[in-house]
Amino acid sequence: MIRIKAFHHLKSLFIVSIILFFGTLLFAQEQGRPLVLQEMSWADVRDYLKTNDMVIIPIGSTEQHGPHLPLGTDYYESAGISKLISARTGVVMAPVLLAGYSEYHSGFPGTLSLKLETMEQVLFETAEMLIKYGFRRFMFFNYHGGNRIAESKVIHRINHTTEAIAVPIGFGSPIQKGRYQGKDEVGDEHAGIGETSLMLYLKPELVKMERAEKPKVIYNEKLQALWMLSQQYPDLLMVFNSLRAVPVETKKGGASHELFSNGIWSLSDPKKATKERGEKQVKGMTDYAVKFIEAWKKVKE
Ligand SMILES: [Zn+2]
Repeated sequence: MIRIKAFHHLKSLFIVSIILFFGTLLFAQEQGRPLVLQEMSWADVRDYLKTNDMVIIPIGSTEQHGPHLPLGTDYYESAGISKLISARTGVVMAPVLLAGYSEYHSGFPGTLSLKLETMEQVLFETAEMLIKYGFRRFMFFNYHGGNRIAESKVIHRINHTTEAIAVPIGFGSPIQKGRYQGKDEVGDEHAGIGETSLMLYLKPELVKMERAEKPKVIYNEKLQALWMLSQQYPDLLMVFNSLRAVPVETKKGGASHELFSNGIWSLSDPKKATKERGEKQVKGMTDYAVKFIEAWKKVKE
């Protein structure tokens, strides 16, 4: 009798341990650890593909972000938010590029840049490899305006020449409603309050706030005239914008160092950046992407 009792006791202990073990696994999954392709083994990828064909590819840049933010800011933003999305959805994220199209920032040292065609080709060839293994749903999380054309081209190429589907989910994507610009953030486009806040939240150890300074705007006469006129004829902003963010060789006066003294593109003071603002935006962008992915998961391929 005693032996049987002990056996039953052992049996329930065993069952409890099993429940605890899988419970912990489940909990770990819910808490979410990101799935990063480079951290997985081929066996992990094989197992993943049995139940999921989605992949998130972050696209950023290595380019100047003022004297106070690291050159990799756009990469940390795109990969950082992609990781959070991965942790919450269980979708693999696969970084394939560290540089983007940033030629117009090259007046500041350290900026790297790829030609649009090179960028498109690298993204497409790496996507082709992933397609070969069974990935079919691609989401590009871009966080650099200069990459938009290359991103659109690669998305079009995947959609029109392969079995896979590709969509944008990063900054500027239709799923990211609004521009996350606060009331007192005027013309805050690059390395200003917005991006400094993001980095204070995502990578605070790389932010040198003591160097954050409102830039001097040094637009040439033509740009200044266009800006003034565009207040009266807003359609002229199209011309104004096409003269900016272009390489110095075009002689349009629209390279980064020809527009703003320290590489920060903002009419506001970047010192107003806060970690809380960064957290709010990261959370907002992550929420929209998670909602989108969960909806897309409902469509069985
Ligand atoms: Zn940036």
